[in-house]
Amino acid sequence: METVAADIDLAALKHNMAVIRGMAPDSRIIAVVKANAYGHGSVECARAMDEFAYGYAVARLEEARELRNAGISKPVVMLGGCAAAGDLDDVAKLDLSVTVHSFEMLEELKAFCRANPGSGLRVWCQVNIGMQRLGFNEDEIVRAMDEIRSFPGFVHPVGMMAHLSCSDEAALREYHLKQLASFNRMSVFAEGALCLANSAGIIYYPDTHTEFVRPGIIQYGISPSSGKTGADFGLRPVMTLRTVVYAVRELRPGDAVGYGASWVADRPTRIAVLGAGYADGYPRSMPNGSPVYLNGTVVHTVGHVCMDMMFVDIGADLRVVPGDSAELWGPHIPVEKVAELIGTIPYELVTRPTKRVRYRYLPA
Ligand SMILES: *Cc1c(COP(=O)(O)O)cnc(C)c1O
Repeated sequence: METVAADIDLAALKHNMAVIRGMAPDSRIIAVVKANAYGHGSVECARAMDEFAYGYAVARLEEARELRNAGISKPVVMLGGCAAAGDLDDVAKLDLSVTVHSFEMLEELKAFCRANPGSGLRVWCQVNIGMQRLGFNEDEIVRAMDEIRSFPGFVHPVGMMAHLSCSDEAALREYHLKQLASFNRMSVFAEGALCLANSAGIIYYPDTHTEFVRPGIIQYGISPSSGKTGADFGLRPVMTLRTVVYAVRELRPGDAVGYGASWVADRPTRIAVLGAGYADGYPRSMPNGSPVYLNGTVVHTVGHVCMDMMFVDIGADLRVVPGDSAELWGPHIPVEKVAELIGTIPYELVTRPTKRVRYRYLPA
């Protein structure tokens, strides 16, 4: 039996992809599978998404290599561009698309194309529309596009891509609209396709649905905006993080639980000791009272999360025996709610499960 398992529901993933297609019916989907498909397993998820995805997007060369090694042959775009000029060899060999986002990178690309005539790198031009991460600014776009067009070796069409930074937050609507206006002005100079919307753009702003959209978090059934869960958008959670009960203990009033004795029983009760800890990816910062689903009901954590174990108060009546399965997040405990309790976003939690967590894929 696995002590900690991440069950990945590929049927839920397909359901979510169908929902996304319904939200952006006129766009093609570049499925974002960076960071091991947000912790869900990039190869398995990419395969399950196959009928919906035009291609895939990753952040790092190694992530792209993993897809190619698994025999995935659809377009793969590296969102982050290339960290080192030396990476371009691999980009060409693996038949990846890159995003060019600076004049320095353009120089690297040119040098590569001169040294490898006909290598035919596929290039997306990335533009900065107000996040200051990567991309050409508005006053650079004409020169950048001129340079992109001016040398051989690129396979056309060259597309234009930008990233929205405020589309998840209603209060930031005005800034979002500024970003959209900036993209629309720059897109006049684009060659090829446009690609703009992330998950929140797909949900909230149909006017960001260009030829391509790049959903990430909603594919995995998770809300991109705070205060909501995936279910609010008809999505189903893909990951269930589970562990097992190691032991059940009776406590008397005054008994203190865990490191630092940070929780003390104020009544006779029982606790279950669970076999997951922060070294599995369940955050140590989870406060007393965090929800865990156990034997048909929601119970709450007590004491600090340990490296390999944690505690829940199960009261006097709940039937619990060692070996019972507990859900740390999943269909009964939305990961959005867990994240909110420690002031982070669900993106950070699902990318946390560590090497010793066993992944189990439930067939689509
Ligand atoms: C991560 C990422 C996405 C996907 O974002 P979500 O909020 O998960 O939909 C899209 N585009 C870029 C450039 C990204 O880095």
